[in-house]
Amino acid sequence: MKNRKVHFVLIVATLVVVGIAVSAANLTSGGQAPRSKTERTVKMTDRPRPTETKVETNSSPAFNAAAYQNVALRDEVAWTFGGKQQRGWYLYDLLIGETLNSKHDPLSNDFAASLSKWQKKSGLGSSGVLDENTLMAMISQWQRNRLKIRTAATQDQLMLAPTSDFYDPSRAPELRQVERKTYEAYKEMVAAAYADPALKLSSNDKYFKIISSFRSPEYQAELRRKSPNAGSAGLAVNSPHFTGRALDIYVGGDPVDTKDANRAIQVNTPAYRWLVRNAERFGFRPYFYEPWHWEYVK
Ligand SMILES: [Zn+2]
Repeated sequence: MKNRKVHFVLIVATLVVVGIAVSAANLTSGGQAPRSKTERTVKMTDRPRPTETKVETNSSPAFNAAAYQNVALRDEVAWTFGGKQQRGWYLYDLLIGETLNSKHDPLSNDFAASLSKWQKKSGLGSSGVLDENTLMAMISQWQRNRLKIRTAATQDQLMLAPTSDFYDPSRAPELRQVERKTYEAYKEMVAAAYADPALKLSSNDKYFKIISSFRSPEYQAELRRKSPNAGSAGLAVNSPHFTGRALDIYVGGDPVDTKDANRAIQVNTPAYRWLVRNAERFGFRPYFYEPWHWEYVK
């Protein structure tokens, strides 16, 4: 009887010990969680960043509907800029993608999801629909990123760039002046473009040549006198070209023609696409409406 009691106690004790051991094992495996989390992190970073893949990963019905609306809006949404009626946002696909840090097809659910995050951050409704309101908010952001001061450069801030840098090598010396730091940054940027094997540029290429740089307020006034009805940005009263920090760079097509058909050619050239992805590294920011116009903002 006493032996049996002892046995019973031993059995209970064993069960308790086993129980503790099992709990401890659970705790240990729980303690392993951070390790598996680390493994997951490593695997995630090994994979391409989600923004670099076009694989559909977002199947949310809300974004599906947004993507469906974006298909129509991309070509059709009506908006006004520079006193002119505009249609669609397809010319700005690349700039929009850059702003959203998204390389997704602009008509995909993933794009709508990225847009919705940007809308939320910008204090807009997070619908994922790129309607007129969202487009105007995005344009405001792009315009805010441009040169703030448009004071004319003084002679000592300017240098004379060689004819070989220009789209038109016969351009007069007074029209080949560039603000010094801007010129340095421009040369570095062009060297990087030429070194990029993806662009396959040769020394005969016109791409990245300067079409127009510093324009004095006097010269600009002269241009306006010659064509008083031209309301284009090129003849602006307060032009960023006064600073010597704005460069019109050849990106293809008709060099400085704002017609949609011409800009549609320009925004698809490898040169323009390269600038959108790389110019910021060298201190240059775009003017969204003119694919050729870049401003040194550092
Ligand atoms: Zn310009």
